[in-house]
Amino acid sequence: MTERDWDDAVRLLDHADEVALLCHVGPDGDALGSMLGLGAALRGKGVTVVASFGDERMSVPSSYAYLPAQDLLVKPEDFPAAPALLVTFDTGSADRLGSLADRLETAGTTLVLDHHASNTRYGTVNLVEPAAAATAVVVAELLDRLGLPLTAEIAAPLYTGLVTDTGSFKYAATTPAVHELAARLLATGIRHDLISRSIWDTASLSYVRLLGEVCARAQLDPAAARGLGLVWTSVRAEDLSRHGLALSDVEGVIDVVRTAVEAEVAVVLKEDPSTGLLRVSTRSKGAVDVGAVCVGLGGGGHRFAAGYTSSEDVDATLARLTSALQAAPHLAA
Ligand code: AMP
Ligand code: MN
Ligand code: MN
Repeated sequence: MTERDWDDAVRLLDHADEVALLCHVGPDGDALGSMLGLGAALRGKGVTVVASFGDERMSVPSSYAYLPAQDLLVKPEDFPAAPALLVTFDTGSADRLGSLADRLETAGTTLVLDHHASNTRYGTVNLVEPAAAATAVVVAELLDRLGLPLTAEIAAPLYTGLVTDTGSFKYAATTPAVHELAARLLATGIRHDLISRSIWDTASLSYVRLLGEVCARAQLDPAAARGLGLVWTSVRAEDLSRHGLALSDVEGVIDVVRTAVEAEVAVVLKEDPSTGLLRVSTRSKGAVDVGAVCVGLGGGGHRFAAGYTSSEDVDATLARLTSALQAAPHLAA
């Protein structure tokens, strides 16, 4: 990412009267937060803004219900057919835009804001910073360069992106600059305690019960990843329906499974009730590049947190993943 890229992005947004925003399907806090944060800031300077994501049923997960600026969201079918300026957030490749990926062909200009190492640079201008802890960090820098002030309406979504992708400031990408940005965001008066409670510390009893079930049947394969070990479990569509839960409710299962010290790699296979496909979440503790493994299997992500979608059944998906893990080199500590 060069100064030229920043200048190009600033020029595009400075001159736009209308902007259409998209984040990846099955959006997490960074996808929604970086999108709504920039959306609120642009609206504040008089730009007409619409935002969406290409899920079959576009709905914001309940843990992000507090996010401001959600009135910018329109249903995929109401998203402009040929936006003059399209901006994408936290989306490493075109397919992650789901049913709205076709807008990349009809948009006049596309600006990509992201931090995935696997980003395919599918935009006209690509602001992709793999070292950034979150796409929200890229957006915050862009707002500074645009000379737009942080308000609480902008800060709450950006803080959401930052706190989600750093796992509450725990992961390695949490630099001094991340804490400095967090301080600036908190200084706007946002209720970070309520944000964190909603994201991390609020669930239905149904979820607690489902979590117990899927964790109780977790399997350990100590020989996997050339002896470093794999722990895995699955969440079937039947589990979701029996507990009355949606796919977006079980994003946090991987965070419990990955704590098992016996395994370097953790995997949760989630059956999407609307398509029957398996959404595969992978995590490693630092000795295996699961991002590269997932890119090889048609997905993407970061070195130690990545995913892909599989159209095979659980057994075949695991077999393919296990053989890819066997071929993955071990990283130096
Ligand atoms: P998740 O396991 O869903 O929390 O995702 C972990 C990381 O992998 C995130 O950065 C996602 O954007 C990325 N990721 C997950 N699924 C996919 C996919 N099907 N294609 C590309 N990247 C993915
Ligand atoms: Mn994301
Ligand atoms: Mn992100």
